Amino acid sequence: MNILVLNCGSSSLKFQVINVTQETIDQNAEDLLAKGVIERIGSQSLITLKPTGRKTQKKALPFRNHAQAIDFVLKWLVSEDSDVTAISKLSDIQSVGHRVVHGGEKFSKSVLINDEVIEGIEDCIDLAPLHNPANLDGIAAIEQILGKGVPQAAVFDTAFHSEMPQDSYLYPIPYQFYRRYKIRRYGFHGTSHRYISYRYRFLTNTPKSETNIITLHLGNGCSACAIREGKSADTSMGMTPLEGLTMGTRTGDIDPAILEYLHLKEGITYSHLFNMLNKQSGLLGISGLTNDMRELLEEEEENQDRRASLAIDIFCRRVRKYIGAYLANMNGADAIIFSGGIGENSATIRSRICQNLSWFGVAIDEERNQSMSGGNEGIISTSDSKVKLVVIPTNEELLIARDTYRCVEGII
Ligand code: ADP
Repeated sequence: MNILVLNCGSSSLKFQVINVTQETIDQNAEDLLAKGVIERIGSQSLITLKPTGRKTQKKALPFRNHAQAIDFVLKWLVSEDSDVTAISKLSDIQSVGHRVVHGGEKFSKSVLINDEVIEGIEDCIDLAPLHNPANLDGIAAIEQILGKGVPQAAVFDTAFHSEMPQDSYLYPIPYQFYRRYKIRRYGFHGTSHRYISYRYRFLTNTPKSETNIITLHLGNGCSACAIREGKSADTSMGMTPLEGLTMGTRTGDIDPAILEYLHLKEGITYSHLFNMLNKQSGLLGISGLTNDMRELLEEEEENQDRRASLAIDIFCRRVRKYIGAYLANMNGADAIIFSGGIGENSATIRSRICQNLSWFGVAIDEERNQSMSGGNEGIISTSDSKVKLVVIPTNEELLIARDTYRCVEGII
């Protein structure tokens, strides 16, 4: 089954076309046909297209909205320009899987999209005002172009965390606000944590019920997840993706009283404050330079930039703090897994995070660590480390494609 996977961000569109069969799932193989990104939807958009095995194509075109961008992608896929042999007409795309950011308490697994599901996603707009509308635009655009006959599935970022126990997901604020407004931890990056956990099980031949691990998705957005018996038991992102680890531009945890204090001192409105917490904080806020970890590491090494160093130290300390908290709450774990752009590629950051974890029996093997980057996966701890350290590149799109296949086949 040729599946188009769509990830509609607030102003971007990422897509992949993956062929999925029961055989590729059983063999844990991936048959990627093409992928691409369209950035800056709403103005002059930048388009990057990559048919598998062929050169990357770059273009710039003005797209007003997601519908226009999706229309372009579909036309490109069937054109000679893309040269994707498996797809020469629109009917060669047999189903579409959407990454949907917020499923609230309604969706605990991936589902085939129908009117009721669309209503459910609409009901969660309050919780993800930038993302859910973009996801809905994507769903509507596909229905308009490919017709109602092509099945579409929704794969939720929050679904993997839906089994968290109440003492993990409830905030200690008056209980009526949970009852009235469903204010609670939902967690995000669920598809990524689920994929990493699945991949760990596959690599180590561990049954799901015996999978007790901590997964770290460290990219521009960052989150940690405590996985007990194969299920999400706790995660660092909260009701929104702002909570938890220090991120590229997001604060992660801070004292909420800072908001009131800054509001009084600087007369800044709450909406400006939230913009600051989301877009001008984290690595960017501390360094005053960039939200990009690679650039910060370069600044630190080449120019001994003090604030770049400080931003990196704060980032690593916060990750370590969550590892410690989860090890305590889970009564230990079998593995700590690094993923996301930073976790997959930066041996330095992995090494700095693991400093002072020896008390827990965590021992990094520096030679293995230094050799692990650029999409490789494997163990980077010493053979006698009590807790394994593992690098596993995430692949949310593959999991979305497989879930879509299962939804269409009715086996989810
Ligand atoms: P997103 O959350 O947007 O998907 P990614 O998972 O692609 O982000 O991660 C982006 C981050 O990964 C950036 O901070 C980037 O600098 C960092 N990164 C990528 N490669 C390296 C590297 N070799 N060393 C350090 N950081 C890296």
